[in-house]
Amino acid sequence: MRQSQLVTKTRKDVSQQEHSINAQLLERAGYIAKLMAGVFSYLPLGYRVLAKIENIVRCSMDELGAQEILMPSLQPKEPWVITGRWDEVDVMYKLKAGDRDLCLGPTHEEVVTPLIAPYITSYKDLPRAVYQIQTKFRNEARPKSGLLRGREFRMKDLYSFHANEEDLNTYYDTVKDMYIRIFERCGLGDITYFTYAAGGTFSKYSHEFQTIAPDGEDTIFVCSPCRVAINHEIIEELSACPECGSKELTQQKSIEVGNIFKLMYKFSKAFNLTYRDSKDAEQNIPMGCYGLGTTRLMGAIVEALHDEHGIMWPASVAPYDIHLLSFFRSPDMQQKAHELYLDIQKKGYEVLYDDREVRTGQKFADADLSGIPIRIVISVKTVELSNVECTLLSSP
Ligand SMILES: [Zn+2]
Repeated sequence: MRQSQLVTKTRKDVSQQEHSINAQLLERAGYIAKLMAGVFSYLPLGYRVLAKIENIVRCSMDELGAQEILMPSLQPKEPWVITGRWDEVDVMYKLKAGDRDLCLGPTHEEVVTPLIAPYITSYKDLPRAVYQIQTKFRNEARPKSGLLRGREFRMKDLYSFHANEEDLNTYYDTVKDMYIRIFERCGLGDITYFTYAAGGTFSKYSHEFQTIAPDGEDTIFVCSPCRVAINHEIIEELSACPECGSKELTQQKSIEVGNIFKLMYKFSKAFNLTYRDSKDAEQNIPMGCYGLGTTRLMGAIVEALHDEHGIMWPASVAPYDIHLLSFFRSPDMQQKAHELYLDIQKKGYEVLYDDREVRTGQKFADADLSGIPIRIVISVKTVELSNVECTLLSSP
């Protein structure tokens, strides 16, 4: 991509109301633009990052053997009344169409359970797992954290259906391991912890994945040797590491980047989802659900990986592999730069080529802000040295 042709430019006039680092850096670098509080557009560079994150998540879900579907955002009231959550979920956007009550889905248990029910009748139909990557809506009271707490956001949600609790437990551990791999693949492996959190209505604990970030809105207590953490909400109830019993825990600020729950029978019972076992007896189906906000993860990466000059994307999710900065002025040298740009692409790399005629300082400052991990600089000086200058800005 030639940067002179890019729709966006870096901006200095970003709204002062955005206090979060992720929104400030992403807006200044031209990755996203705010439409209203908690609602953002994804511009060409930002959409490339989001697509890469979602592709990592999608490939990881496929590796688990889960099958991708797409469910509607617009949902009727009736299934939410069946589960008793129509009046319970206070962040739900509700709307009226004529005399019909509808909502914009904040989650999809009420849709996926009756959706799957006709296809699961026998023990031979289990286990099954489906997922989607889809836009969700939550009417957050004060959405001030940029991509971390949006009113409209993208999320991967996986739902699993099992013949018994033992099978659910085994699958749950498999998903947990895959989540650890997803965060590794997104460049957050070293700073993301499997975290014990409050269980809610279904079980003693639920589990979160928390990424260490200085301005994170959560607080966790980390057991470094075990690579697990405890959410501050339950530290009184659970004051030692659940794996090794150690009480030497380190307090850290963090951002929740994923959560997994055992739903057990709440939704399958509400929608009469049962199966016939091998002796033809009717059995209930325990379920699991596994969330991962992809736009939130993009915000968390920026919160965790930046410096005073800008974003530092991990290679796996950077909008381009290489940022090629040309400082040539004469037409024949510009032609040489263009050939180099084409050559690097032929070698299989994605290149953002800064061919703009702007001041040297601005070109470097914009590149620092954009945070593409490998930078190649070509100028009269580097040609005199018969070389190009290549900088690796963050570890891949
Ligand atoms: Zn431990």
